[in-house]
Amino acid sequence: MTQLNLEHWWQPFTNVRAFRDNPRLFSRAEGCFLYTDDGRDVLDITAGLWCANLGHGRQEVADAVSRQLMTLDFAPPFQFGHEVSFRFAEQLAKLAPEGLNRVFFTNSGSESVDTAIKIAYQYQRARGKASKTRFIARERGYHGINMGGTSLQGLPNNRKGFPVYDQVDFLPDLLDIERNAFSRGLPEHGTDRMEAAFNKLVAQRGAENICAVIVEPCVGAGGMVPPPQGYLQRLRELCDQHDILLIFDEVVTGFGRTGAPFAAQSMGVTPDLITCAKAINGGTVPMGGVFVREAIQQVIFDAAPAGGPELFHGNTYAGNPVSSAAGLAALEIYQREALLTRAAGPIGQYWEDALHGLRDLDCLIDIRNFGLLGAITFAADSRFPAGPAVPVHNQCFKNGLLCRGVGDTLVMSPPLTISEQEIDLFIERLRRSIGEVIG
Ligand code: PMP
Repeated sequence: MTQLNLEHWWQPFTNVRAFRDNPRLFSRAEGCFLYTDDGRDVLDITAGLWCANLGHGRQEVADAVSRQLMTLDFAPPFQFGHEVSFRFAEQLAKLAPEGLNRVFFTNSGSESVDTAIKIAYQYQRARGKASKTRFIARERGYHGINMGGTSLQGLPNNRKGFPVYDQVDFLPDLLDIERNAFSRGLPEHGTDRMEAAFNKLVAQRGAENICAVIVEPCVGAGGMVPPPQGYLQRLRELCDQHDILLIFDEVVTGFGRTGAPFAAQSMGVTPDLITCAKAINGGTVPMGGVFVREAIQQVIFDAAPAGGPELFHGNTYAGNPVSSAAGLAALEIYQREALLTRAAGPIGQYWEDALHGLRDLDCLIDIRNFGLLGAITFAADSRFPAGPAVPVHNQCFKNGLLCRGVGDTLVMSPPLTISEQEIDLFIERLRRSIGEVIG
């Protein structure tokens, strides 16, 4: 094999110069495993990047993509359409919380977030509330990398140094290890703090100037932090009280991750818009979408001048036939194998017990879980001032385990197909890696 040149692909969120010295390359994937180019198996406990919810290498999805490429590989979505995406949108609308039965397709989570922001903004103008231009997001939130999402995100490294929309305020971080350490599922404390901060912001900015609140129902990339009990219900009530839209960013939590099609349903709270992507077609072909309440679409339609697009927004590949065909095939598998609710059943309990079984490790200051999401947070010490999560993550990879290191935390989101034996293997490889790093 000729030597691989690593210089030309500028990889995202990567220390590229270090990567060139120590490249980590995968060449194949099947089920819950990825395989490195030197043939080692790596248990994929992150479902790729929170996306391969069906596990890897699904023949039916591959066949659907291949068939679609040869039948209709592309059709322009502006002023034209095709059957595949209308059928996919109809199926998706049946999965979504009641009322959110309109889908605007995108190609990624970032595009879904920026689309949701623009729809929310247009909606307020369309109903004569043009002063509602401000947004509320949350510290530690991640909403992708486009300019809207960059402006709304609560991870300082991803904002600093970039131009951002400045009409944004942040609710406090959900993570409260002092009060909530080692909670199983939704922790107890924190709703009070959100409510106080929300009321303060409304008093300071004026509800008549606030367009929407955006939150991940369960923080993902910022360290996997489930909301405290009652948090999302209270947020919904506060938004209703002040006539503010509520957007759930379900790019991570959508498609079965928390034991229902969407976290909105597992938490029993219905927002006004939901963003999604990643697992929409099993993480196979780039695609995302925004679910919108029918009533919101109607207001925008009613206000739009006749003859032109109701929304001057959209992408070339929005709702493209190939991604949609992958989505239809993926949905069939999700439904046939009952994967969208699997995390709420015995496997979710097994996952929770397995994770909390790590509690004997003195180096951990917190363990969190919700649905098939998990996180462990390490204590910092003089050897690891920022915590050992990144060295542990690197050791995990050497020991055949893919999880993610975020700051002082390792986060996990296995394929929804994971077996009890694979969970046992995960714990075994994780314990070994922690032991080798920390001693
Ligand atoms: N929102 C959330 C909650 C996410 O976790 C992500 C990606 N991890 C995004 C948006 C952005 O999605 P993408 O990387 O597909 O643009």
